[in-house]
Amino acid sequence: MDEALQKILNRLRDAGLNRSILPVEGPTGPVGRIGGREAVVLCSNDYLGLASDPRLAEAAKKALDREGFGAGAARLISGSKEAHHDLEEALARFKGTEACLIFNSGYMANIGLLSALSGPGCLVYSDALNHASIIDGARLSKAEIQVFRHCDPDHLEELLSRESQNPSPSMPQDGRPVRRLVVTEGVFSMDGDVSPLDRIAPLARRLGASLMVDDAHGTGVLGEDGRGTAVHLGVADLVDVRMGTLGKALGAFGAYVCGSRTLIDFLINACRAFIYTTGLPPSVAAAAREALRIVETEPERRERLHRNAAFLREGLRSLGFDVRQDPTPIIPVIVGDAQNTVRFAEELLERGIFARGIRPPTVPEGTGRIRATVSAAHETSHLERALDAFETTGRSLGLIGGKVSSTSGSHSE
Ligand code: PMP
Repeated sequence: MDEALQKILNRLRDAGLNRSILPVEGPTGPVGRIGGREAVVLCSNDYLGLASDPRLAEAAKKALDREGFGAGAARLISGSKEAHHDLEEALARFKGTEACLIFNSGYMANIGLLSALSGPGCLVYSDALNHASIIDGARLSKAEIQVFRHCDPDHLEELLSRESQNPSPSMPQDGRPVRRLVVTEGVFSMDGDVSPLDRIAPLARRLGASLMVDDAHGTGVLGEDGRGTAVHLGVADLVDVRMGTLGKALGAFGAYVCGSRTLIDFLINACRAFIYTTGLPPSVAAAAREALRIVETEPERRERLHRNAAFLREGLRSLGFDVRQDPTPIIPVIVGDAQNTVRFAEELLERGIFARGIRPPTVPEGTGRIRATVSAAHETSHLERALDAFETTGRSLGLIGGKVSSTSGSHSE
């Protein structure tokens, strides 16, 4: 077997597409040691700098003392602990929904949600740049998948209208309740742009489809008190399934789904990725609960995050990089082919900046990129160092030079 596997690995390496793990020493934060060398970390999703906040560790320690480390069983057996319930209540309040259910990761939440809500005879309408976990969930559901152009409500409308004029005679089978489900990220993880939910949500409602939003990168970052993209765009009440993760701005681990009491009761009864797995360690849930309290009471973190993002974006633009103007901390710098993307990331690291090169199949062919992300924990000096390294590397690889490239804000695909 190994021989066959090695051949595949060799092919990936030759194409510049092989992946490897780089250990990062030290606490999660704006600076780390990679390969024995100190570097500014510009690729973490710890947007608010909470992952190493001592208050999260303290909350986890208290829960450890109170409830032990492991949950001991699935939530539906004996593994539903006080910390899980506290967190679910707090998240439902935060999102303004009737109920919430936590999951062991965002990946599990997405495959679980889509396969529970949708099924054979149903249609899933999915944004072209949705995360792998959404794609996998939609495939697992065995629903028909219709992909709408990225952030394009007109195309979505066309697909939805076509279907409603010509309703399929086959109704959902084996108890799947949602005949037509639109699914999109709130903030797109690899592009940092924001879904036009203010158009998509009313459209889905008008044409009788349900709507699910994965707000992994919007929660804690956008909207009043960091309540997410749907709140930012004023359509929270029109989103049926509000999913997000706890491992990004909240600095913890796990995921959640917020929605009606009926939705959550249904998931408790039908969602295999919830039913058949051990509950999160209570200490992890307690840390996430504390993170949520901090998100709600320390708006200055979010303000600093947005200031830092604007500083880096503007700096990159003035160096001549073609970066989009979005209200998020995710700043993709498109390099192009996979080999150059790898080289760009390696040179950045040599210059003390840790930012990973993202290549296909994570992003479309030809759009290899450095996905730079900023955090509230970055000091201006960290970002200045990053700009110096981007400038030297960009020049050395011919991405920037004498001429300044356009900043039209068009989507790079
Ligand atoms: N959805 C999106 C949009 C994501 O970016 C991610 C994480 N990269 C996930 C889901 C998966 O979340 P988790 O890391 O908690 O599994």
